[in-house]
Amino acid sequence: MIETKSVSISQILVRSSGYLKQICSHSLQPYRGCSFGNSLCGVGCYVQHNWFVTRGRTWGRFLEIRQNAAEIYLKTCRTERNWAYRSDIPFAIFCSSATDPFLPQERSCGITRSVLEAMKQQPPDSLIVQTRSPLVLSAADLLEELSQRCQLRVHMTIETDREQLPGLPPFATSVSARINACQELKKRGIKTIVTVSPLLPILNPQAFLQQIAEVADGVVIDHFIEGDGTPDGSRTRKTALPEAMWEVEPDSITINYRDRIVGIARTVLPGRVGVGQTGFAGLLE
Ligand code: SF4
Repeated sequence: MIETKSVSISQILVRSSGYLKQICSHSLQPYRGCSFGNSLCGVGCYVQHNWFVTRGRTWGRFLEIRQNAAEIYLKTCRTERNWAYRSDIPFAIFCSSATDPFLPQERSCGITRSVLEAMKQQPPDSLIVQTRSPLVLSAADLLEELSQRCQLRVHMTIETDREQLPGLPPFATSVSARINACQELKKRGIKTIVTVSPLLPILNPQAFLQQIAEVADGVVIDHFIEGDGTPDGSRTRKTALPEAMWEVEPDSITINYRDRIVGIARTVLPGRVGVGQTGFAGLLE
């Protein structure tokens, strides 16, 4: 059961720090909390360790709907753009790093949609829409329009070709539905990158990457080691995720596994592969 409440906020554009600093000037969360938190991605989710977000609440059990997000975006974007320019960086927004912008609740609340509408009036220089949800297709019209006004890319997270890991809850959205969503976005001319993050044991790497090559413009591969905000993945090691990964493929909890998958990706998608933080920032080689 998830406790949902509507809230008013005074700030929506958060200046980047830590891992995100190399990737964007600001992050934007249309919701606080995440209703995907009880699914597989929630097991290792680093946001659950952020007390500022949870305030002691159980991850996956609360959702704040930021009903005035679009209004606050329009009110503050000029100041935040100027701050970015004074810092000599583009006004680049990551939506979202601590929730999913296309949770099932988006269907009725439309908060992300309202923010994208606001961005049509005041577009950032670049926008990364990071999601695990095929519901992103409900905003494909807006994403298409915004693609004409700023550098936009959709990052669709698909961590593995497996629909389940033993002992863990299922994913919130199926792998096949996410692959299909990428195909549709790409067909509409929206730049689409699959983020394999965190990388989980893949059943058939060659076939999985081949499928990604067909439905997306590129792939970013990110392991929990170096990818969870700690250099050695210690944050994720406190969760049940590494043990489940180890049971399926012991090597998958080492950085060697990432390097092996990156090697295969470079043969399947030459020039279209990013790794970790630089990959999220848009560097594909
Ligand atoms: S969708 Fe993202 S923010 Fe939400 S639980 Fe999964 S990993 Fe965490």
